[in-house]
Amino acid sequence: PYTGPSPEEILLLRKQYVNPAIFHYYKKPITIVEGKGQYLFDETGRRYLDGFGGIVTVSVGHCHPEVLAATQLQNETIQHTTTIYLNPQIALYAKELAAKMPGDLKVCYFVNSGSEANDLAILMARAYTQNYDVIALRNAYHGGSPSAMALTSHHTWKFNVPHSHGVHHAMMPDTYRGLYGSADPDAGKKYAADIGETVRFATSGKIAAFIAESIQGVGGTVVFPDGYLKHAYEQARSFGGLCIADEVQAGFGRTGTHFWGFETQDAIPDIVTMAKGIGNGCPLAAVVTTPEIAQALATRIHFNTFGGNPVSMAQGRAVLRVIEQEHLQQNSLEIGSYLTSGLHKLSQKHTIIGDVRGKGLMLGVELVKDRDSKAPASAECAEVFERCKELGLLIGKGGLYGNTLRIKPPMCIHRADADFMLAVLDEVFSSI
Ligand code: PMP
Repeated sequence: PYTGPSPEEILLLRKQYVNPAIFHYYKKPITIVEGKGQYLFDETGRRYLDGFGGIVTVSVGHCHPEVLAATQLQNETIQHTTTIYLNPQIALYAKELAAKMPGDLKVCYFVNSGSEANDLAILMARAYTQNYDVIALRNAYHGGSPSAMALTSHHTWKFNVPHSHGVHHAMMPDTYRGLYGSADPDAGKKYAADIGETVRFATSGKIAAFIAESIQGVGGTVVFPDGYLKHAYEQARSFGGLCIADEVQAGFGRTGTHFWGFETQDAIPDIVTMAKGIGNGCPLAAVVTTPEIAQALATRIHFNTFGGNPVSMAQGRAVLRVIEQEHLQQNSLEIGSYLTSGLHKLSQKHTIIGDVRGKGLMLGVELVKDRDSKAPASAECAEVFERCKELGLLIGKGGLYGNTLRIKPPMCIHRADADFMLAVLDEVFSSI
């Protein structure tokens, strides 16, 4: 049993000593002291189904035995010196990760967070193209470091200071709220055309990069219309830009049909950034690009003290093995499709559900006050979120108006967990 400080004591310590800008979910915050597979346990031993995977960081399940064994062995052997010395883990992991990539994407850089990965990707694109401007999308989240904050396009995460210059935000390809709906077969192409407009209005006509999440995560699981990224990449390349796919949330098999989110859009980027699920909970992130682009950064030293440390590398390797051995991409497809059809059934019953969307185990349920006006049901969403917790289900929420429930569990969840999730949501929607 748990013997540490009580939740009240932890809250007090947090208030006194921890970053006050981190909010806590739930009116009465929960304390999580243990995790196993797709389940989390609070200080009383109460079990919750983890429908959010620590904001998508836990890909193969909490405290997976094979992942634990790999990191324990590495911890007992050598934790870290410097990547300047040779160690097998970084070399082997880079080869294994590169084997997962299409095309010529095979040079890996290791860092510690998604923000760092995106910073590096932007630097790389600028160094390679010798251009400066970057096109990102409205509603994007790419991190909180100074240059990633500039890419991020939500007031919630942007401080009132000058952001890194040269970032322009193009139209968000949202078929639910945007100009072109899902019934329009050319929606992808039409949204992508706005990238050209943005370049022509806001820049000299030359850009360093276009960056987009393959499915927008924090922004409320916004899935782009078919063909969007393919056309977007064509647009960006026609202005000299490299294409960066932020796979921090959508990668590693979560979409079910493909290992990478961009593959669901039939597009191949020039640079891929990854974090969160890559390490199943450890501070590991990566940037992968082509040998040609990597040369642009080889003119100076790019060094990161902990990036590529043997423990994170061992953990990353174990995560790749477990995804393969346990067929977790396939599981994301099966359970994801099952959950999606269950959510569609719920939407026939509960009119508060405006839209159900997502791929695999990256799902979103957007709540509206009424389906015609699509007025965001933000307060109701917060209520649903709260009541789910009371019934033992933890999920996320997001979107500009905070009215989209986000479901992104560890990829090891079972059908029975999906049934539980749907039953909880049904009960909660009925009570709202
Ligand atoms: N990109 C995406 C798509 C993300 O969701 C996040 C984190 N929410 C980041 C980048 C930034 O990652 P980190 O918090 O590890 O810096």
